Amino acid sequence: MSANVTVVGAGISGLTCAVRLQEQGHAVTVVTADEPAGTVSRLAAAVWYPTRTAADPRVLGWAHRTYDELMAQAAAGVPGVVPRPTRMILRGTHATPWWAAAVPDFAAGPDEWRFTVPSVEMEVYLPWLLDRFETAGGRLVRHRLARLADAPLVAGGADVVVNASGLAARDLAGDPAVHPARGQVVGVANPGLVTSVRDEDHPAGMTYVHPRSRDVVLGGTFQPGDWDTTVDPATTAAILARCVELVPELAGAPVVWQAVGLRPARHGGARVELDPVALPGGARVVHDYGHGGAGITLAWGCAEEVGTLTGGAAGA
Ligand SMILES: Cc1cc2nc3c(=O)[nH]c(=O)nc-3n(C[C@H](O)[C@H](O)[C@H](O)COP(=O)(O)OP(=O)(O)OC[C@H]3O[C@@H](n4cnc5c(N)ncnc54)[C@H](O)[C@@H]3O)c2cc1C
Repeated sequence: MSANVTVVGAGISGLTCAVRLQEQGHAVTVVTADEPAGTVSRLAAAVWYPTRTAADPRVLGWAHRTYDELMAQAAAGVPGVVPRPTRMILRGTHATPWWAAAVPDFAAGPDEWRFTVPSVEMEVYLPWLLDRFETAGGRLVRHRLARLADAPLVAGGADVVVNASGLAARDLAGDPAVHPARGQVVGVANPGLVTSVRDEDHPAGMTYVHPRSRDVVLGGTFQPGDWDTTVDPATTAAILARCVELVPELAGAPVVWQAVGLRPARHGGARVELDPVALPGGARVVHDYGHGGAGITLAWGCAEEVGTLTGGAAGA
């Protein structure tokens, strides 16, 4: 049965849900406070990797599904999506990671892991998703909701509301487990790099080098509970130093941008479920938020589950 669905949020979670729900025949409206270009998703590095995500069969399923979808999109020439060879530096001994099951060419050496993952340039990918949604008849409404219960009103009616509001779910869903995990990143001109390099356990902080078509994203920080969105110059200098140490070809590469984003983290992991309580007007709520540092990595898998939950809630 097709339903009227309102998706709250136009980041990676909201737009992937909107596209999938549309494909299932639902009439979908997206309500968002910010343009896609103004979301946290726009700032993501955005490389497939389940950063600080606990091993869990559901999460592995979402990650696996997203890996396959993004690799298929890369093969189909979707703008901004490319397979990226990756080196992960190991400090100490490590067992094979739980997520390796999703990565076909994962190879473990004594000092590093090597694998290929999809990487996404969000600057072009989010507009591509929005265009795909709108071309198929989807409607985007720009509005900052004071309460989730207002979503059906703003959209002109809804049987199901999908809550993909990221960090704002702390208030909109009254969920105190949601909190920011601050991330500062630096963009430098790309001196010709193609391989991602990660040193997650660097004693001075997580360190990563993610080449893109024109620039390289250098990171980073992961600061739970920190709401400060201003760029800290000392942190930028430290990130540059660690990344040049890791990849000496970066020495002297000009800085072209700097940014801070607040990852929508959640104690207990992402919440992808049907809310047992309906909104006052009767609309059911399906939640899809709290993906922390792995929102791009989990997006398509979560959107598929949201599709199943929405179909169930709408009586399909
Ligand atoms: C520096 C950095 C690097 C990262 N790198 C990676 C990476 O390499 N790989 C990876 O997988 N992930 C990465 N992430 C994490 C990823 O960016 C997030 O997990 C993901 O973007 C969350 O997407 P979202 O759509 O759930 O939330 P958001 O992108 O925050 O979108 C939330 C949406 O909800 C809307 N909204 C909020 N409040 C309201 C309201 N009251 N009314 C209406 N609409 C509202 C907003 O306007 C927005 O459209 C990174 C994050 C950062 C900060």
